[in-house]
Amino acid sequence: MAQSLVVSAQEMDSQMQCAARVREGFPGRTYHIVTYGCQMNAHDSENLAGMLEEMGFAPAAQEEADLVLFNTCCIRDNAERRLLGNVSALSQRKREKPDLLIGVCGCMMQQAGGAQRLLSLCPFVDLVFGTHNLYRLPELLLSALSGQKVLAIGGDERGRIPEGLPVKRASAIQGSLTIMYGCNNFCTYCIVPYVRGRERSRRLADIVREAEEMASAGIQEILLLGQNVNSYDGGATFPELLRALDGVVPRIRFMTSHPKDLSDALIAEMARSRSVCPQFHLPVQSGSDKVLREMNRVYTRAHYLERVRALRQAVPDVGLTTDIIAGFPGETEADFQDTLSLVEEVQYDSAFTFIYSPRAGTRAAAREDFVPPQVQHERLDRLIALQETATARALRSQVGSVQQVLIEGASRRREGYLAGRTGRGMTVNFPGPSSLIGKLVFVRILGTGANTLRGEIAQGECSK
Ligand code: SF4
Repeated sequence: MAQSLVVSAQEMDSQMQCAARVREGFPGRTYHIVTYGCQMNAHDSENLAGMLEEMGFAPAAQEEADLVLFNTCCIRDNAERRLLGNVSALSQRKREKPDLLIGVCGCMMQQAGGAQRLLSLCPFVDLVFGTHNLYRLPELLLSALSGQKVLAIGGDERGRIPEGLPVKRASAIQGSLTIMYGCNNFCTYCIVPYVRGRERSRRLADIVREAEEMASAGIQEILLLGQNVNSYDGGATFPELLRALDGVVPRIRFMTSHPKDLSDALIAEMARSRSVCPQFHLPVQSGSDKVLREMNRVYTRAHYLERVRALRQAVPDVGLTTDIIAGFPGETEADFQDTLSLVEEVQYDSAFTFIYSPRAGTRAAAREDFVPPQVQHERLDRLIALQETATARALRSQVGSVQQVLIEGASRRREGYLAGRTGRGMTVNFPGPSSLIGKLVFVRILGTGANTLRGEIAQGECSK
C-alpha cells in the first residue's frame, strides 16, 4: 500500500528560516535552471524556481546567472554524457567568476554512483542533491553560499512529501500538480523505482487545496502527475480523487497510468466527470505476451485490449496515446509483429516510440540477448510508419466536428493564428486575436496538418 509521510511542520519552518537567512545575507542574486526529462522533473523545477525566488533570487540567462542549477533525469539514453558535457562547459566561467555557484540535482543524482562520478569529473560543482532532498534547497543553498561543498543524496527511500512548497509556474493557463511519487513496479528496463523510491501519495485534502489555489490563480487546465498516477492511494482511490476535483477547474488531465490499475471505477468516473478530458495515456510497451512478461509489466495483451475496449465503450471519443519500446532483449520478429498488430488494432492518436537501451542496475541490462542495433532501428522505423498512418486517421476523424479548445498561445506556424488543444489533446491552429489566449472557445475543424488540426472559431455548441 502506498504511504503518506509528510515532512513535519517544524522541518518546513526550519527551511523557511534558512530561506530568510539567504534572502537577507545574499541579496540581489540571480539563478538559471536547466531542466532535463519528464513532466515531473519540469514541475520539480517550478518548485525549485519558487523556492529560489522566495530567497530573493531573480531569473537570468545562464551566462549571467550567479547560480546555475541542472535538474537531471536518468531515464533517457546518454543523459549522463549530455549532463557532463553541459556542466563541464561551465568550468572556464567558474575559474573567471569563483563565486558562481553550480548545482546539480534530480534523479540522476539518486542513481548509485551518479553523484560521485559527477564530482570526480567536475570537482568544481558546489551543490549536489537528489529528489528526496529537493525541499531542503534553502538549507543546502545557505551552506553552499557560506563556502561549503554540499552533497545531499539518498535518504529514506520511501521519501517524504513536502507540502506547501513555493512554486513558480511556467504557464498561467495550465499547471502540473503532483499527486504521488515513486513506483513499486520494477519493470525490468526501468531505473525509476531505484532512484525515485517507493510509491507514496499526497493526502486528498492537500491536493484539493492546491487545485483550488490554482483555479483561483486563473489556471484552466490541471495535469495530475505521478509515475503511476492511477495507483494513487492517499486515503482515497484515484477515481475518488477525480470526483473530488470535478469542477474545480474546467479541464483535468493525468499521466502516467499503468494498465494494471485501469479499473472500471476509473473508466466510469472518466465518463461521468465534467472536467476530465477524453484523453488517456496508457503505455503498452509491447504487444507480445512473452516480452510483456519479461518486462514485468504484469498484464497481458488480452487484458490491455479488453481495458481499451471498456474505455472506448464508456468514453467513445477518447484519444489514446502510448509508449512503446522496440528491440527489447530477446524480442523476435514474431514478438515485434505482435506489437505492430496491437498498434493496428488500438489505433492510437500518437505514440512515444523508443529503441530499448540498457539502464545500469536494472534486470534487463544484465541480459545477454540484446537485439542488434540495426534490427532495433529497422523495427522502430516500421513502428513509426504504422503509427503515422494511425495519427493521420485520428486527425482526419475530427474534420467537420466542433471542438472545445483551450487556447494556449500564439501559433508558432502562422502570424495572426492561435494554437490550442482539444479535449482529446490534439493541437489546433486557427485565426484569432491574442486577447483570447487562456480562454476556452469552440473551434470548427476544417482540415489537418502533419500532426495538428486547423480550424476556425465557431459559435454555438461543441459537437462532441
Ligand atoms: S511502472 Fe514501470 S516504467 Fe513506469 S516508472 Fe514504474 S518501473 Fe518505470
